[in-house]
Amino acid sequence: MRAMYYEAFEATPDIRTLPDPTPTPGGVVIKLEATGLCRSDWHGWMGHDPDIRLPHVPGHELAGTVLAVGKEVRRFREGERVTVPFVSGCGHCGECRSGNQQICEEQFQPGFTHWGSFAEYVAIDYADHNLVHLPDAIDSATAASLGCRFATSFRAVVDQARVTGGEWVAVHGCGGVGLSAIMIAAALGANPIAIDISAEKLDFAKKMGAVATINARAVADVAEAVRDITGGGAHASVDALGSPVTCFNSIKNLRRRGRHVQVGLMLADHATPQIPMAQVIGHELEIYGSHGMQAWRYDAMLAMIESGKLAPQKLIGRHISLDEAVPALMAMDKATDLGISVITRF
Ligand SMILES: [Zn+2]
Ligand SMILES: [Zn+2]
Repeated sequence: MRAMYYEAFEATPDIRTLPDPTPTPGGVVIKLEATGLCRSDWHGWMGHDPDIRLPHVPGHELAGTVLAVGKEVRRFREGERVTVPFVSGCGHCGECRSGNQQICEEQFQPGFTHWGSFAEYVAIDYADHNLVHLPDAIDSATAASLGCRFATSFRAVVDQARVTGGEWVAVHGCGGVGLSAIMIAAALGANPIAIDISAEKLDFAKKMGAVATINARAVADVAEAVRDITGGGAHASVDALGSPVTCFNSIKNLRRRGRHVQVGLMLADHATPQIPMAQVIGHELEIYGSHGMQAWRYDAMLAMIESGKLAPQKLIGRHISLDEAVPALMAMDKATDLGISVITRF
């Protein structure tokens, strides 16, 4: 198979021919139709992710057709269109048995713990627990864009923050996660407020359903600006970026009994941010993390896409080839594109 491959972090990846994968007894091989580029792929290539062992094939936001199935797979057959959450479960640990595959104790992540989807084929293990059938109405580029940012935002807004119609939802950071969260909150009938330092991203956030925007560079105190707009604070707030500042503001801007969800990753020297704990106690705030989404929860999200309530295709930018993905990956930290780049030619 053709695949993007690197033997050293920060070295230019190659496109080369590698042996085709074969399925494990419980796994499948998927022929890729689309796979999204994500900042996590860039972090991986930079050597920031301890799960990656070299040499490596990146890529974790994928959709395609089942090409081969292991003999123990029950729910999937050759020729079926599928996608997979970026955090996949083992199917047999306590978390998986309780339906929380997104925090599986032995989780695997294509493109991190295993070779990923920047290739013609990818092998996925424990297929019955992790694959999701795709409706015909959802094209592969859209489906590929769900696996990481969009599904993570869906779980954050719907399952963790439990957002309902009429509530104010502050979203800190308007990258892929933040824009998805805004679209999902708006579809639930809530009032999302977009917060970012880029006027261009804030304009795009309005098109995704934000009812108000705050340019964090233009106000003295973001939390106060949110309280002004909402008459006392947001019911729910998402840190979609992941920084000590956005995390702090996202908790600080809540009204009493408000819910904060941390989605943006906090790595290295950002790992232990300041939290206004007196306010958490005195106002009975709820603080959640959110980490991917289980395959079995995709049905609710896919139903909202099929009915037109959610339109993740609006977040897609360029369609590119596997060869074009090499420079795109290397420049990911400097990318100014508003939409997600998706590889659709292998
Ligand atoms: Zn598990
Ligand atoms: Zn991703």
